[in-house]
Amino acid sequence: MSETPREGLPVVVIGAGPVGLAAAAHLVERGLQPLVLEAGGGPAAAVASWGHVRLFSPWQYDVDAAARRLLTATGWVEPNPDALPTGRDLVENYLTPLAGVLGDRVRYGVRVTDVTRDGADRSRSLGRERRPYLVRYTAGEQVREVRARAVIDASGTFGTPNPLGLSGLPVIGEDAAAGHLAGALPDVLGAARERFAGRTALVVGMGHSAANTLLSLVELARDEAGTRIVWAIRGGSPRRLYGGGSDDQLPARGLLGTRLRDAVEAGQVELLTRVEIDRLEPATSSDGVRVLGTARRDGADVDLDLTVDTIVNATGFRPDLDMLREIRLDLDPVVEAPRAIAPLIDPNHHSCGTVPAHGEIDLAHPDDEFYLVGMKSYGRAPTFLLATGYEQVRSVVAALAGDRVAADAVELNLPATGVCSSDLAFAADEDGVVSPDTLALAGASGGGCCAAPSGPQPVTLGLGAPAGCGTVDPEPVKVGFATGVEHGRSGDA
Ligand SMILES: Cc1cc2nc3c(=O)[nH]c(=O)nc-3n(C[C@H](O)[C@H](O)[C@H](O)COP(=O)(O)OP(=O)(O)OC[C@H]3O[C@@H](n4cnc5c(N)ncnc54)[C@H](O)[C@@H]3O)c2cc1C
Repeated sequence: MSETPREGLPVVVIGAGPVGLAAAAHLVERGLQPLVLEAGGGPAAAVASWGHVRLFSPWQYDVDAAARRLLTATGWVEPNPDALPTGRDLVENYLTPLAGVLGDRVRYGVRVTDVTRDGADRSRSLGRERRPYLVRYTAGEQVREVRARAVIDASGTFGTPNPLGLSGLPVIGEDAAAGHLAGALPDVLGAARERFAGRTALVVGMGHSAANTLLSLVELARDEAGTRIVWAIRGGSPRRLYGGGSDDQLPARGLLGTRLRDAVEAGQVELLTRVEIDRLEPATSSDGVRVLGTARRDGADVDLDLTVDTIVNATGFRPDLDMLREIRLDLDPVVEAPRAIAPLIDPNHHSCGTVPAHGEIDLAHPDDEFYLVGMKSYGRAPTFLLATGYEQVRSVVAALAGDRVAADAVELNLPATGVCSSDLAFAADEDGVVSPDTLALAGASGGGCCAAPSGPQPVTLGLGAPAGCGTVDPEPVKVGFATGVEHGRSGDA
């Protein structure tokens, strides 16, 4: 069959989230042609769905540099760099104007279902590199295809939450009980208020999402009598989520953990530790759901048999790799992230998402000019930050533009945290679960390779690893972020 030349085709960006739109901004700046395909009806549909949640990163970390340049040229006024936006603020005051500047380079209501090389399935090698990519998507009832010179997959992980089962499978009855699952971040004080008011909610998970929802439920319970809040975690203690408190350089993040600890200690939240849910069944006495399994109470393992109205499944997210079945990817078998960055973010070894600045060279796959970026590039690791994604796409687009020097000069500025450890292996308890006490000590001593310095530090990739940093090759940046920000499952959740 005749081949379409790659040159002249657009660079398809999957997802118009903050990182996908930043990629498009860099492409425009470099004179390349982006085509952003977004499943939602508008920009950043995933962020919009958690629009009621306040970010812990102030605006200065939330705006991409190329996007800023494009927007500033239109007279856009940048929000106060020290203010903390909500997800809604991010969409309304930054991402929607940015998408406006990008115009019809962004298409909405189109869901990418498959990516392959045009005319070459995964097993065909001959002439593979000459072939463009073929991106298949649905637009309403229609199935369509577009050819691309390169593909940047920035589709995030928000659409594919982890199931409740500790083994990675849905627990028995989970699919049938889907109507009782509210997702990680229901708008408890807004759109979802009726669902929770005066009822029993079980929040499962030990990440930032769980913390946000728990605190909203505590607020709801003040006004709505009969609201009961149960919190189930896999580990033996929530201390890790309580985080660095006043030592955290992102004060909002430190405060989140402190407020949650206060709510648990005041009895507003009933905490169950060492929870293993085995199955869900319809409740017999109400229209709720029965949660069955085991938990730890007063130092002893007990059967769990709890009837609740709603389960907030804040158990983290995983990447959708099904649509990439025909692409030759080089992914870490544990984290499902690009192999080169996986050791730096594996939650089995890193509590704080220690992130050396990493760029195109670390994000490349055997199929050339195909990249996973943004939240999806972290696979199952929960500690992604926007600033990391913006640096990824800057480097990737520089490489696509043939600017190898800029692609390899990777820098990253992130705020530091109060509690952080880079090697959790030594801290695992008898269940392989990280001991929060050891963890806190590791962070406090500054012994971990992600120990926080006195302030944000720019770094350049490619230097040798300092002693004690496990398998990590590049020098880790000397910054990290709180152990308590996992948006879901990690060693202790
Ligand atoms: C509640 C919460 C708070 C957070 N707070 C912070 C913070 O304070 N600071 C920080 O740095 N980071 C924060 N993060 C982490 C991270 O920065 C965000 O998740 C961010 O939205 C990730 O951006 P992204 O562009 O990679 O992915 P997303 O924002 O998830 O965007 C992906 C986009 O792709 C679209 N999409 C998905 N599948 C397809 C498909 N098949 N075809 C087409 N389109 C598709 C989605 O609709 C979505 O619009 C937070 C995350 C959460 C969940």
